[in-house]
Amino acid sequence: MDLYLEKINKRYGKTPVLNDINLSLKDGELLTILGPSGSGKTTLLRIIAGLERPNKGKIVISGQIANNPDILIPPQRRDIGMIFQNLALWPHMTVYENISLGLRNRKKKINNNDINKIVFQVVERFGIKRYLDRYPTTLSMGERQRVALARALVLDPGLLLLDEPFSHLDWNLKDEFLDLIKSLNTTIIYVTHQVFDILRLNSKVALLIDGKLEAIGKPEELINTTSSKAKDFLRCLSLYKDRNFNS
Ligand code: ADP
Repeated sequence: MDLYLEKINKRYGKTPVLNDINLSLKDGELLTILGPSGSGKTTLLRIIAGLERPNKGKIVISGQIANNPDILIPPQRRDIGMIFQNLALWPHMTVYENISLGLRNRKKKINNNDINKIVFQVVERFGIKRYLDRYPTTLSMGERQRVALARALVLDPGLLLLDEPFSHLDWNLKDEFLDLIKSLNTTIIYVTHQVFDILRLNSKVALLIDGKLEAIGKPEELINTTSSKAKDFLRCLSLYKDRNFNS
């Protein structure tokens, strides 16, 4: 899915949170949004998903306007999957019920056999078939993570939005999941505040600071930014030091 954002602005009350965000993403592309806590990353994802409306700006999804002053396409018609940091699995539903919920709620009804087929394909791929009757609270964090991914991917979304979903995993597991993300054949926006993730994913990175896109490019290209805010932030992350760059 192609995505195009033009001059997206958002404020809460009088406080500006996003300031003239321009961004474009090609079908199948992986973009990482890097920025400190409070810089507006989640707000931007929520606006793309249609869960928030910008005060100004245009969003075009696969050539169709999803948001401008006159048009607002609701989240369920945007073909977008989102995984939040807390995963948001339903605790009272089994793994099977969690994963199949989106399919069961589809406007165009799918019969139970087809739902089973789709769910089984995805759970086999993620190695979670044996947990189908368990409840999320009985699973480890890594297992829950797989369930959350399966639940999003079972709907085959054109765009997958990942809001720091791996921040609670230990390094080995996180590494494994980042590889998994790289292997997915979907357009993805991955949000993080950690330099490890951008180096591991090695995708295009958009650096968001105080609601403004300060730089965009591959990790090694970010050092060419002239923005002093971006330089300060990257220095904090010791990106320069890790990669033997000179500030
Ligand atoms: P990040 O994901 O980068 O940590 P957020 O997008 O969550 O940043 O938040 C950006 C800013 O917007 C923060 O200052 C936050 O307090 C504020 N904010 C987010 N949601 C709301 C809301 N619903 N009402 C008021 N302020 C909000």
